[in-house]
Amino acid sequence: MNIVHLSAECYPVAKVGGLADVVGALPKYQNGLGHEACVIMPFYDLSFTQKNKFKCTYKGSLKLGSSSYRYSVMEPVDLNLGFQLYLIKIPDLLFTNYVYSDDDAKRFLAFQIACLNWLASKEQLPDVIHCHDHHTGLIPFMAQYCHEYEVFEKTPSILSIHNAQYQGWFSHKLIDLIPQFDRKHTGLLDWDGSINPLGCAIKCAWRVNTVSPSYMEELKQEANGLEILLTHEAAKCVGILNGIDTTVWDTNTDSFLKKNYSKSSVLSGKKANKKWLCTTYNLDVKKPLFAFIGRLVYEKGSDLFPEAFEQILQDQEVSILLLGSGDKNTQQRLVELKKKYEGSYNLYVGYDEALSHVIYAGADFLLMPSRVEPCGLNQMYSLRYGTIPIVRGTGGLKDTIVDIENDGFGFIHLEATAAHIFSTVKRAVTLYKDQKRFKKIRKQIMNIDHSWDKSASTYIQLYKSLTNRS
Ligand code: ADP
Repeated sequence: MNIVHLSAECYPVAKVGGLADVVGALPKYQNGLGHEACVIMPFYDLSFTQKNKFKCTYKGSLKLGSSSYRYSVMEPVDLNLGFQLYLIKIPDLLFTNYVYSDDDAKRFLAFQIACLNWLASKEQLPDVIHCHDHHTGLIPFMAQYCHEYEVFEKTPSILSIHNAQYQGWFSHKLIDLIPQFDRKHTGLLDWDGSINPLGCAIKCAWRVNTVSPSYMEELKQEANGLEILLTHEAAKCVGILNGIDTTVWDTNTDSFLKKNYSKSSVLSGKKANKKWLCTTYNLDVKKPLFAFIGRLVYEKGSDLFPEAFEQILQDQEVSILLLGSGDKNTQQRLVELKKKYEGSYNLYVGYDEALSHVIYAGADFLLMPSRVEPCGLNQMYSLRYGTIPIVRGTGGLKDTIVDIENDGFGFIHLEATAAHIFSTVKRAVTLYKDQKRFKKIRKQIMNIDHSWDKSASTYIQLYKSLTNRS
């Protein structure tokens, strides 16, 4: 099959979170199954595009209302990502040194129009258009109802919801920016008085999936206003658990690690990475190391950390290391804690891909007290690197972690509260003290297979069910 993935992020080109990891891996695995999957994304002015060479494959122009923009489709030269990558360069709108801003409506609308313009110009149409999140959410609508994209009428479109919190809302005042369509379809664009690209994609895509089965169920209860819509469209919705790219996330070869290790050398390998972390961040290597990696936002439960860390550090002999940035208030409170708990707690404010890999390798436990977690990749990386996850039982975390009390291999707390984090960390410290059991679980988790193999073919089955129909 000829599959086109459309996304705002893709690892290693531009990454803000898990969306990039998924779009950088799924097509690779689909190609491994004998299909032809490619990725189309914006050409940003970021380090990947600055460092690599690109050639222009196509030049075109698009209209946003009365304004015209020229765009180019760029392809990397001499680069093998495991899938064909195309980047849409629109100098005035997309060629920015950031992925997201507060004013993205025009940027991503232009991106989507350029994608459809270019795809429509090609001799062979894709068999499936796979859209990821709201940034590509108007594609299913435009492909069905915009006059100039009639060629796509029979091309199935899939929407993957990686995060339903963000929906890409914009005002109806901008409706004329969307290429011409019969205005009787305007209702499909609307949800609650705004143009809602995610809501529109839920209505118009042929199938919709979330990135874990539990998240699909949870969205029917809480989806930032889209609950009724998702309940109404339940028949075409399904949950497919994300996988991880086991070629990128491999302790044997990961070039970011201070020392590579295998299942049999996990003890010395993790020790070396932990030692580097503890030396660099002034932490005591003898104590169990608890870590967090992620965006400091309400969904991730990071606002609970200042209180939880105070309780933990006053009561337990542990080290804590945090990597992330986000909400200014939480960030500031977490920075302030540094002085008070010097030698036991530290953080790196910012985004650092290399450091994240060393943390997965060197930490003993990974904290994920998420309020909402569509799938969560961190817990899967953590398992693969022999780091025991401590998670709140929600979304994909619920689907991937089993508590050690139930013969499992991680820790689950039911509520996203500082008290629940504290009591679960205490349980983890007890396990750490029982080194024999701790090491056994560490080996056990490294054997869990979360690679994309299974889910990549589940997506193919889903596409096939639609191409048969079309
Ligand atoms: P999200 O909701 O942010 O997409 P996921 O668990 O799906 O959460 O994916 C998060 C991805 O982003 C993981 O690869 C994680 O390692 C990475 N990540 C998050 N924050 C940082 C950071 N500050 N530095 C490096 N990597 C990060």
